[in-house]
Amino acid sequence: MESLFEQIERGTLWQFPGGIHPPEQKTLSNQAPIRQLPLPDKLVIPLKQHIGANGQLLVHVGDHVLKGQALTKPAGNWSLPIHAATSGVITAIEHRPSAHPSALPEPSIVLEPDGQDTWCALEPLAQYKDISKQQLVDKIHDAGIAGMGGAGFPTYVKASSQAEIDFFVVNGVECEPYITADDMLMREHAEQIVQGIEIMQHLLAPKYVLVGIEDNKPEAIAAMQKASAHNDKIFVRSVPTKYPSGGEKQLIKVLTSREVPSAGIPADIGVLVQNVGTLFAISDAVLRGKPLIERVVTVTGNTIKQSQNVWALMGTEIKHLLDSQKFEPVTAQRVIMGGPMMGFTLPTVRIPVVKTTNCILAPDNQELAEPNDEKACIRCSACADACPQTLLPQQLQWFAKGKEYQKLEEYNLFDCIECGACSYVCPSEIPLVQYYRVAKAEIREQKLEQIKAERAKERFEARKERLEREQEERQNRHKRSASRSTQSTQSKEKVAEALERVKNKKTPEKSAVEAAIARAKAKKAADGSLEPDNSAVALERAKRKEQARQYKAEKATDDSADKPKDNKAAVAAAIARAKAKKAAQQSDTDDVNTEKQATQTDASTDPRKAAVAAAIARAKAKKAAQNADQDEAPTETESIEDPRKAAVAAAITRAKAKKAAKETEQSDSSVSDSEPEDPRKAAVAAAIARAKAKKAAKEAEQSDEAVADSEPEDPRKAAVAAAIARAKAKKAAKEAEQSDEAVADSEPEDPRKAAVAAAIARAKAKKAAKEAEQSDETVADSEPEDPRKAAVAAAIARAKAKKAAKEAELAASEDNAEADIQTEIAQQSSEPEDPRKAAVAAAIARAKAKKAAKEAELAASEDNAEADIQTEQAKQSSEPEDPRKAAVAAAIARAKAKKAAKEAELAASEDNAEADIQIEQAKEDPRKAAVAAAIARAKAKKAAKEAQLKQESEEGNEPS
Ligand code: SF4
Ligand code: SF4
Repeated sequence: MESLFEQIERGTLWQFPGGIHPPEQKTLSNQAPIRQLPLPDKLVIPLKQHIGANGQLLVHVGDHVLKGQALTKPAGNWSLPIHAATSGVITAIEHRPSAHPSALPEPSIVLEPDGQDTWCALEPLAQYKDISKQQLVDKIHDAGIAGMGGAGFPTYVKASSQAEIDFFVVNGVECEPYITADDMLMREHAEQIVQGIEIMQHLLAPKYVLVGIEDNKPEAIAAMQKASAHNDKIFVRSVPTKYPSGGEKQLIKVLTSREVPSAGIPADIGVLVQNVGTLFAISDAVLRGKPLIERVVTVTGNTIKQSQNVWALMGTEIKHLLDSQKFEPVTAQRVIMGGPMMGFTLPTVRIPVVKTTNCILAPDNQELAEPNDEKACIRCSACADACPQTLLPQQLQWFAKGKEYQKLEEYNLFDCIECGACSYVCPSEIPLVQYYRVAKAEIREQKLEQIKAERAKERFEARKERLEREQEERQNRHKRSASRSTQSTQSKEKVAEALERVKNKKTPEKSAVEAAIARAKAKKAADGSLEPDNSAVALERAKRKEQARQYKAEKATDDSADKPKDNKAAVAAAIARAKAKKAAQQSDTDDVNTEKQATQTDASTDPRKAAVAAAIARAKAKKAAQNADQDEAPTETESIEDPRKAAVAAAITRAKAKKAAKETEQSDSSVSDSEPEDPRKAAVAAAIARAKAKKAAKEAEQSDEAVADSEPEDPRKAAVAAAIARAKAKKAAKEAEQSDEAVADSEPEDPRKAAVAAAIARAKAKKAAKEAEQSDETVADSEPEDPRKAAVAAAIARAKAKKAAKEAELAASEDNAEADIQTEIAQQSSEPEDPRKAAVAAAIARAKAKKAAKEAELAASEDNAEADIQTEQAKQSSEPEDPRKAAVAAAIARAKAKKAAKEAELAASEDNAEADIQIEQAKEDPRKAAVAAAIARAKAKKAAKEAQLKQESEEGNEPS
């Protein structure tokens, strides 16, 4: 099977679809050689005569230019220069009607020829093979050569193609009727055409050069064969006459059997096509240095009396051509630029000849009938049969009328070569090609608008992004500045708040300290005995308490936390008062002991003086005790009302107690120095104080007894002594009541119970005192005249008084025990968590109870001593006959009383020991220890009282 190249060498031709065979009418113009026209009066040279951009002007109006001088220079892609077709003067550069069916004005240079037709300096390149291809291409470019077949595509673009070219096709078909320009050019200038072919061969190096010429141009074929006979690569092929075989795609198909794809170009299939007129221009440009300034134009038609081809200068008005060829227009004369198939009717004959003008047809009315109004499509499909591009002209027409551009593109509108075959065959005389041309123009315009819109959109999007970015940056800057200002404001506020807190802390602290100092100064001024050291201690304690309250207030804790402090203050005050009373009692007892010891020494000489001295000493001691109680009363009130004052008062009281204790006995100072904060030390100190007090009481009792033993007998004095005893009993009851009140004061947890218990105790004590008073009064009313009876009555009265005092004391002790138990219970319910407090409270309660018991016992013992003295005096005065018996009986009674007292003291000491043990146990279980201690104390006191009552009853039964 032959290859394609073999087939081509053998002269095989192929057929293209469609096509028509209109009347050729070529003989009208091919019978005469090409004529050289005279110079026109003016040349109107459009700047754009090709496909592509305009060139940049090189001349100005008034410039004289030479023939062949460039008037413009290339200014962009596919831009070609234009040249002066003759020498002359540029008279105008203005818009003139264009060589377009619309004849829209376009920039043009009006050149008035000077008639000299003087050429500019030409630069031929005879040895073009010696220069580079680019230089050769530039030469072609500078010559301003464009496709002269009708498309006007820049030749230099094709000449510079880098694609591999198999077939360089020379289009010499000239299939359209009436046109014979190429035919005549080939006939007359075949050598130059072949030169042009060879220049392109040099540039493109095609395998084959195929020259296609319709078989209706045998002279041209012969000329070309002759001219190209030396070149074995050039094959001149006579193709069948059929319209539009001159079409690029159709000719490629005929000569090479290859088909250009849709929307493709011939270079895609290795084919490049050039018109014979273009090759002639390339030969002129390269070999003779002439730019494209003229071309062969067929001037034909029945109205042209001298139809022939002419060399027309670029810019020559059509009128000049017509006039030169004896144009005789007819009515409704039409002048068509191009052939009857693809040409367009000129709106005016002032349109210049351009590079693509190949024919001016001026037919008469019979030659080319005026087209009638189009009719409706009859769907005959004749248009489709005639279409060489195998399109559907009928469908394209509908879409074009409906401006369905998308559909037009889908139906390959742009594959239409506008051959006009469809229109030529349409029985409805539908100007199909005109529809397609308009549709193509609109689509191109739309695409240009779309491209502009896309570019505008891109610019808009870029601007929008830029604005958004700038706005975001501004917002971020604002946020950062706002956050910085907020942070600075917050920091300032925090600093201000901190300063305010510091001020608030300093202010109450200072005010509390100043208030404490003021109170201390006021008290110091009121009481001259207040020591400066004590006030300093009080101020320190007040300051510590104030700081503690501030800390608790800041922690927003409950105010109940202040109560224990109040309780502590009250407890401390109560402890201080108890110590003060105890010290006073000890001083009393010491005084009594001293006085009694002195009395004992003097008793042997003067028993009356000794008894009087002892009574005076007791009275002084009691008075001192009462003064101490009176001094403590306001302190207690203050401690209850204000914990600060109570603390200060407690400190003052402790100082007084210390002072008093130091004066009496240095050992007491150690007791008073022991702070109530340590329950062990307090308990030990209390035990020591109790032991000392009991010891002192016993010694005083012994001294009283000694005094009583030596007391003279006097009934009157006995009566007086009995009255004194009653008064003392009342006083003892009052002291017990006061002690109950003190106990009540030291019970802040449950004041109601303590108050009730104290009231009961006071009522019992008063009742007992009244009974004793009544019995004394009874005895006093029945004052005997007989000394014996009086002595007996006095003894009975003393026994009753002692009994009543003991009962009162017992009741008070019971009340105290109950109060202790209630206090312990209250402490258990309120403060179960702090064993130290419980132990301290238990020790305080025990100290108070014991103190009350001791005071009552001491008073009773003193009364007993006085009563014994008086009894003995009464006995001495009323029973002078047998003093020995009375003395013996009194001695026996005193011995028994001592024995009973010692037993009670032993029991009390045992109870105290048990209480101490229980205090120690209180560390582990303060509740049980406190309760057990209270019960033990109550039992011990009860046992002591019973023993004492038993002794008294025995004494009362003794014979006087
Ligand atoms: S003008 Fe277009 S549609 Fe009509 S026949 Fe020619 S190529 Fe086909
Ligand atoms: S040739 Fe004319 S009438 Fe026939 S189908 Fe085509 S457009 Fe319609």
